[in-house]
Amino acid sequence: MTSDAPIYKRILLKMSGEALLGDSHAGIDPLVLSRLAKDIQALVNARIQVAIVIGGGNLFRGTELSAIGLDRITGDQMGMLATVMNGLALRDALEHIHLETRLFSSFGVTGIADAFDRRKAIHDLEQNRVVIFTGGTGNPLCTTDSAASLRGVEVAAEAVLKATKVDGVYSDDPVKVRTATKYAKLTFKQVLDQDLKVMDLSAIALCRDHNLPIHVFNINKPGVLMDIVTGKPEGTVIQGGES
Ligand code: UDP
Repeated sequence: MTSDAPIYKRILLKMSGEALLGDSHAGIDPLVLSRLAKDIQALVNARIQVAIVIGGGNLFRGTELSAIGLDRITGDQMGMLATVMNGLALRDALEHIHLETRLFSSFGVTGIADAFDRRKAIHDLEQNRVVIFTGGTGNPLCTTDSAASLRGVEVAAEAVLKATKVDGVYSDDPVKVRTATKYAKLTFKQVLDQDLKVMDLSAIALCRDHNLPIHVFNINKPGVLMDIVTGKPEGTVIQGGES
């Protein structure tokens, strides 16, 4: 028997910058933003508390900038600033459909986003506001995946929902290898031992250490967020200990 009762009351949604790209090669697709906003609205209407960590890879990535000659740390700072831009766009889309929001940044961008404050973030979540965390961890040489695990633990989220373009974790790259099979469930140990490309290893290890399950799923599938929070079989779930 399936039920529509939520299995999570508070989630941390990790959205990469790429999730905002749609069919464009760079920047943000407003149609994608508005669809994502509606999917998030469905969660809020079901009284699920939603915190979001947004990436910046659709605009800048430190590694890519460094490959074309920029200083790596400067490139990472540009990448972190890019997450603030994406956060502003996401907030706009959410407010357009009358959702209450809060935009935090890990570093000072006075007048644009509030300085990250864990207690304020938890209070906002309790008030059913959608909380958007930007600026990554605030440190270079990190990624927004690590920020997702970190903020997830800090605000006591019950799961990290890692949005991707594929519908879960596969034994191999499903685009390149036709025989690749999808895992419905994995343990943290399996992900780490097999070096499966899910999130940064440090992000996985933090979730493991704090018993924070990770759901990997295709963000482009309509209704997928609601399916996950109501416990429907969707994507891959990573949780638990041995084996
Ligand atoms: N970044 C960083 N520290 C962080 C998070 C991000 O330096 O804590 C920089 C890094 O250059 C990264 C870029 O910001 O490439 C964009 O973040 P990410 O690649 O995680 O974005 P996504 O792939 O999720 O869109």
